[in-house]
Amino acid sequence: MSSYYNKTHTGAALSREPTARTTVRRRAGRGRYERATINAILDEGLVGHVAFVSDGQPYAMPMLYARAGDHIYLHGSPLSRLLGSLAGEAPLCLTVTLLDGLVLARSAFHHSVNYRSVVVLGRGRAVREPAEKLAALRTIVEHVSPGRSADARGPSEQELEATELIGLALDEASAKVRTGPPVDAPEDYALPVWAGELPLRLTVGEPVTDPRCTEPVPESVRRERGRRG
Ligand SMILES: Cc1cc2nc3c(=O)[nH]c(=O)nc-3n(C[C@H](O)[C@H](O)[C@H](O)COP(=O)(O)OP(=O)(O)OC[C@H]3O[C@@H](n4cnc5c(N)ncnc54)[C@H](O)[C@@H]3O)c2cc1C
Repeated sequence: MSSYYNKTHTGAALSREPTARTTVRRRAGRGRYERATINAILDEGLVGHVAFVSDGQPYAMPMLYARAGDHIYLHGSPLSRLLGSLAGEAPLCLTVTLLDGLVLARSAFHHSVNYRSVVVLGRGRAVREPAEKLAALRTIVEHVSPGRSADARGPSEQELEATELIGLALDEASAKVRTGPPVDAPEDYALPVWAGELPLRLTVGEPVTDPRCTEPVPESVRRERGRRG
């Protein structure tokens, strides 16, 4: 795999200025633009929501994704409206959200959530060059389940044909982060109401072997428990 696809090339040193479109205005202090913060959120997330407009109607569709260096890769069936729109270089917005906790305030009004989220704006690019396509698909598999591409059969030519691969440059992106306790109205701190945070996290359960599988659970799958749990 070339360094282009190497996740260790984080671009962390790059701190891009936000554009007019990616400057966080509401709660501006929660805006983050350093590439290291944006990459860390993207690398921890599994599902992104891709918003695009088709026939004048906005859609926001959940998708798997993966980051490789300064690119995001998305994939799916070339027959889907979603992939067709993205391959046609329609303007898109990808949002990835990590929900870290519920923030329970003394008043209903000040309830909130702790989160880390990223918004990426841009246009997709259909990746058709076989080596890049293969590497990008591998990146997606590895993002979802590290080590899995060594365990599973790789895609055949026919399967590659049946997969649309979209690249999205991480040129215009923002992150927004909320941490900490609720922020109540000053007079409400005297109320006899419990307030605080309820942490949330995504956990990995015990692997459930396919009834048609007689193979032992591989190390790459067993490791998942420690990775997210
Ligand atoms: C899990 C979760 C739940 C939320 N719930 C609510 C809710 O119920 N009500 C509510 O009003 N807001 C909620 N927010 C915050 C919401 O995402 C917006 O930040 C907020 O509503 C301001 O929207 P805006 O369009 O006015 O943002 P603006 O500040 O005008 O956005 C300008 C630019 O800032 C960036 N930006 C804005 N928000 C985000 C973000 N969350 N992540 C990364 N970049 C961002 C984008 O690049 C955007 O184009 C929630 C956020 C998360 C992650």
